[in-house]
Amino acid sequence: MYSLAFSILFVSFIILTLLVRFWLASRQLRHVLAHRSAVPAEFAEKIPLAAHQKAADYTIARTRYGLLTLMVNTLVLVGFTLLGGLQWLSLQIFQLTGPGMVYQLVLLAAFALISGLIDLPFDYYKQFGLEQRFGFNKMSKGLFFGDLIKGSLLAAAIGLPLAWVVLTLMNQTGDLWWLYTWVVWSGFQLLMMVLFPTVIAPLFNKFTPLEDQSLKARIEGLMTRVGFASKGLFVMDGSKRSAHGNAYFSGFGANKRIVFFDTLLSRLQPQEIEAVLAHELGHFKLKHIIKRISMMFAISLGFLALLGYLKTQPWFYDGLGVNPLLLPGQGNDAMALLLFMLVLPVFTFLFNPLTSLGSRKHEFEADAFAAQHTDARDLVSALVKMYEDNASTLTPDPLHSAFYDSHPPASVRIRQLNLAAS
Ligand SMILES: [Zn+2]
Repeated sequence: MYSLAFSILFVSFIILTLLVRFWLASRQLRHVLAHRSAVPAEFAEKIPLAAHQKAADYTIARTRYGLLTLMVNTLVLVGFTLLGGLQWLSLQIFQLTGPGMVYQLVLLAAFALISGLIDLPFDYYKQFGLEQRFGFNKMSKGLFFGDLIKGSLLAAAIGLPLAWVVLTLMNQTGDLWWLYTWVVWSGFQLLMMVLFPTVIAPLFNKFTPLEDQSLKARIEGLMTRVGFASKGLFVMDGSKRSAHGNAYFSGFGANKRIVFFDTLLSRLQPQEIEAVLAHELGHFKLKHIIKRISMMFAISLGFLALLGYLKTQPWFYDGLGVNPLLLPGQGNDAMALLLFMLVLPVFTFLFNPLTSLGSRKHEFEADAFAAQHTDARDLVSALVKMYEDNASTLTPDPLHSAFYDSHPPASVRIRQLNLAAS
């Protein structure tokens, strides 16, 4: 009875999500096409028509690709759950291993492997079809498959021990397992923030200290002005994989480092780089990073508490096409984790605009910070170049943008910055 109700609720949310996504995508396609023939007046002097049309075509191609992967992912989700894919997989493994930890770890690994194999042709097409067509792909096929193997080994090396710890806590620590798991999970996230820039990212890219002395002096001047200490300025060879440019900021505490993609440095003037960095420092100085991490911890606590409840409810499994092994010691926890991770996005999708809203508020604040400590006009010209180079559309559908985008549309950001400059 409850199982059937839950299945119906699940299917309803899938359909709702599909409808909303298709509706937003069709709005985006129509809006971008309608504005394809002319560069918006405010950018007319800065961006050539050809670049504007490339951005429109790129946005359209990406939106269509997004719809394709949405369809496939929905089929895969239903296949794993309601159509019995996970139940079948679990039975096969159970027959080989019997109950216990090995069964659970093999189940998680097999699921990850199957999902990875399903994604592979789409990832390949994205890189060598879509990105290639617009001149953004810089990867060889060797590098693509090398990354894939390296990434999979790394995921197994980190994921399996972590899964073992979580499954042990779920099995051994009683009703409050989710609280202990939350502590371990939060610790793991913090550890990754330290390990990612220092150990993991260097496995994929080369990081060299920034050598340009005059740029370095300029940036250090800015850091002193705003009172920021960093472990270093690095240039990353992003051009090895993609022509998209970026700058970011990683680590925390004494470990902070600033990373520029070589693709960005080669395109921006020193004062524009300074302005982009001032924006990033704004995120740090205004405590956006701490706020985001705290929010993430609070949300994961809520979700783990929810899983603590769902894990003991037969309808949660039955409703998603799986027979639960609720007898103690049989090891049902991996299945609970899998189902939860699979179906959670279906139920949280409609909260997306809230996350985007929070993120856009921070972007405006960081822009204002940059305008205060550098010349706002430099950030404007840097943004225009970055939009042009990344073929990001200047004319997104406002509703699509409000729903998905972590950054405000370029025209809105630039209007605010121009106000600050005048
Ligand atoms: Zn930002």
